[in-house]
Amino acid sequence: MKKLTVKQLARIQAVFYILAAGFAIASYLTEAKGSPRPLLWAAFVFIVISFTWRLVFVKCPQCGDSLSNSKRIPDTCPNCGFDLTTLPQKENPNE
Ligand SMILES: [Zn+2]
Repeated sequence: MKKLTVKQLARIQAVFYILAAGFAIASYLTEAKGSPRPLLWAAFVFIVISFTWRLVFVKCPQCGDSLSNSKRIPDTCPNCGFDLTTLPQKENPNE
């Protein structure tokens, strides 16, 4: 997997969230109550993906501190001060 900064990972998470909102709106506009609502389910799935993505990927690469309790991703980790706009400096032998 291509290395991404936490900021970029957070942006991908925002895209999933926007997709979820889009599906929810599409469901509201086109799907009647009581009928099967695949768009609503799609919205639900994207919300779960977005939430999981944030839990798994949106954390400090240096100290592992989860950043999910702050609404916007700060430029530096509130725990260790790592610059979240850059990649961690540790070597990856698989790359
Ligand atoms: Zn940190």
